[in-house]
Amino acid sequence: MIKITFPDNSVREFQEGSTALDIAKSISNSLANEVIAASINDELWDATRPIMSDAKIRLHKWEENEGKHAFWHSSAHLMAEALEFLYPGMKFGIGPAIENGFYYDVDPGKDKVITEADLVKVEQKMIELARLKNKYIRKDISKKDALDYFGKKGDEYKLELISELQDGTITLYTQGNFVDLCRGPHLPDSGYIKAIKLLSIAGAYWRGNEKNKQLTRIYGITFPKQKMLDEYLVMIEQAKLRDHRKIGKELELFTFSEKVGQGLPLWLPRGAQLRERLENFLRKVQKDNGYQQVITPHIGQKELYVTSGHYAKYGKDSFQPIHTPVEGEEFLLKPMNCPHHCEIYKCKPRSYKDLPLRLAEFGTVYRYEQSGELHGLTRVRGFTQDDAHLFCRPDQIKEEFIKVIDIILYIFKILDFKEYTAQISLRDPNNKEKYIGTDENWEKAEKAIIEVTKERNMNTIVEIGEAAFYGPKLDFMVKDAIGRRWQLGTIQVDYNLPERFELEYIGEDDKRHRPVMIHRAPFGSLERFVAVLIEHTAGKFPLWLTPDQAVILPISEKFHEYAEKIFKFLNNCDIRTLVDFRNEKIGKKIRDNELKRIPYLLIVGEKEVETGTIAVRKQGEGDKGSMTLEKFAEFIDFEIKKQLAL
Ligand SMILES: [Zn+2]
Ligand SMILES: [Zn+2]
Repeated sequence: MIKITFPDNSVREFQEGSTALDIAKSISNSLANEVIAASINDELWDATRPIMSDAKIRLHKWEENEGKHAFWHSSAHLMAEALEFLYPGMKFGIGPAIENGFYYDVDPGKDKVITEADLVKVEQKMIELARLKNKYIRKDISKKDALDYFGKKGDEYKLELISELQDGTITLYTQGNFVDLCRGPHLPDSGYIKAIKLLSIAGAYWRGNEKNKQLTRIYGITFPKQKMLDEYLVMIEQAKLRDHRKIGKELELFTFSEKVGQGLPLWLPRGAQLRERLENFLRKVQKDNGYQQVITPHIGQKELYVTSGHYAKYGKDSFQPIHTPVEGEEFLLKPMNCPHHCEIYKCKPRSYKDLPLRLAEFGTVYRYEQSGELHGLTRVRGFTQDDAHLFCRPDQIKEEFIKVIDIILYIFKILDFKEYTAQISLRDPNNKEKYIGTDENWEKAEKAIIEVTKERNMNTIVEIGEAAFYGPKLDFMVKDAIGRRWQLGTIQVDYNLPERFELEYIGEDDKRHRPVMIHRAPFGSLERFVAVLIEHTAGKFPLWLTPDQAVILPISEKFHEYAEKIFKFLNNCDIRTLVDFRNEKIGKKIRDNELKRIPYLLIVGEKEVETGTIAVRKQGEGDKGSMTLEKFAEFIDFEIKKQLAL
């Protein structure tokens, strides 16, 4: 018998050689039907692989990343099987699972091409093969035998991969007539794959090196249910329409310039103002919560980041040091604001009565990202964090944490992110030497985080062993309007930097103590947050945030003077207003301005001039009747206060 330890630390005995599927079945058949793969002692395994000794187990379903990964990875094998059937002699590079689906890099052979038009045929073959419910069979193989097999097959790509592997670590997987070099894990059989869509074809250099041959990369996605695929396809259509790069351009919020450099966003006036409103919004919330704003430079001496440990993390692979005419003087672009804030903490002696000290900064940081990784505002090389560092006594962690959570939840509520999950990352209790800080402090902080999330009734998942080496953390993922998940804010406890910077406070006992640091950024970065917000709202920002709140549409030139008068009035009321003076029909003016996503259209003609009113139309809702200017201004004020829950 072997002892199997479950995630809740309960232990049960099973026959030696039991599989994760057997174990799932012993719990319930419905669970067994859902299990796709497993983690055995934190290593990903096939659900059908016999377990021969005592082990820790986690079962993975489709809903989990590990489950999707095995599912999509198995689908790449299935696609390769279909391709090999349809294009005998095709050679295969690598076929990994990716964030959404999978791809396989293939070499169709000399003078042969695969185009998007061929994909339907491949999809159909895949469906046919999936229905055969072929098992994915794992086999250990010696390096020599592996080289023999792919040598005979004539697949030079696999031969190259095998030549770099160590004998004794090589496994092959077979499903149906297809054999692949792979570590796994895979689905129990291909029948799990019910819905298939091959999405696109691109060129990709073998091993990402442009000196190598260009292979054909085929992207696809699969699901355990047809309905899931249908929903996914609708979602990607919607996502295209909501692409923040497209809307950002239409609304003139930001741009990029090759001359300035890749991944360095330029905020245009309307975008800069929008960002400023977000900053002011958070600034006020933070001020109300006892934060103090600081400002620090964009660079710092290399030594600063050697002390903080960031040089070891970001130094070599990031922007290179800046040298001055003075010999030996080296500065780095700041990759993090924390070291600067630690030095602010140190600028004078601190007493227990001074804590918590909450230092906030909209601090711009720079990190080198490969050009292929850059994407609009979501992956950039320079970005501004809504950063703050809370220096507190260990006994204050819980209270500080709850305040930060409340700020984050308030932001989600105001910006209409209705669904979120929070991931609590704890240390691995069996691997304590990996982490810095005392047991007592860790236990206190972890307990505080768990309690606080319970008190706030939060939707959480707990990940053991996912904590940073310097402390436990809580990360927030929001679900946007079309169901995509985005990682946003984070709260992290840190025992490391106070140690490295030798931060101290004088306690009630007159002795020196180390404070604990909490890093937190509710938006994450303003760039990323604005991108998520654009995609979430499809560019229809809430009234308080949107670049233009109203546009005045005079029916004809005769009413331009009246329009000017209204414009002045609304401007005085701080309502961001435009006037459409174009010589166009009113119908066209309405349509054009609705496309600009302006919330209120104010139409003025004969009747409005006579009665001193405006005819109000709301974007997406139509006619709201006529109002006096005072009434409209009051109404806008009321709407904004309602949105901001003031
Ligand atoms: Zn595989
Ligand atoms: Zn920090």
